[in-house]
Amino acid sequence: MKFLTDMHIHTVASGHAYSTIDEIARFAAEKGLKVIAMTDHSSGMPGGPHDFHFHNMRAIPRVLYGVTVVRGIEANIVDFDGKVDINEDYINVLDFAIASLHPPCIRFGDKEEVTRAMIGAMENPYVKILGHPGDNRYPFDHEAVVLASKRTGTLLEVNNASLRPGGFRPGVRENLVELLKYCKIHGVPVIANTDAHTAYAVGEFEESIRLFEEVDFPKELILNLYPERLLDFITLKN
Ligand SMILES: [Zn+2]
Ligand SMILES: [Zn+2]
Repeated sequence: MKFLTDMHIHTVASGHAYSTIDEIARFAAEKGLKVIAMTDHSSGMPGGPHDFHFHNMRAIPRVLYGVTVVRGIEANIVDFDGKVDINEDYINVLDFAIASLHPPCIRFGDKEEVTRAMIGAMENPYVKILGHPGDNRYPFDHEAVVLASKRTGTLLEVNNASLRPGGFRPGVRENLVELLKYCKIHGVPVIANTDAHTAYAVGEFEESIRLFEEVDFPKELILNLYPERLLDFITLKN
């Protein structure tokens, strides 16, 4: 399987990531990717960039080294109703948002709370990807979340960084196996992303591919293999 997209990448602007857009795009081109997305953390993350960072993303060329560059943000889900810390001042400049649960930005919740938070965030029209679901500290109803993904057109993420040895989200593998089981049953597409915090990790999908193979996940539901279908989910702005 040759993945052609990586829609969750952090640059130096995130504060705890270490590569520039130029370095990331060069690595992406070398690895044969067709579409990448810059998705730095929102300002609610300690060390995250000011809102102006996102407001000015239209300054970034649409194509670098032959790779399409999508403008995004990884926003925080900040309450259990699924409120996301996206600022109306810049969201219209961006192509899409990822919404994720991060411990500095929301406490750990129970299954009812986290399921409600995830579904609430997916109902936000700017949110096109639910970032790294599958952390035992944020338990959720797998089938309810898959059905919400289908209904809202929000992609669930297979987060490669979480699956890597030393990944810091307990239970992620077991949770993703369960999630993919329901995606298969209900015919819901997913996206794998590296969540790279250095250029060297961009396009490295070894753990995700192994997981897809182990659960015999249908190729037609893996949008990394179909950049055009992926871009149908995420409409690029000018
Ligand atoms: Zn980060
Ligand atoms: Zn994250």
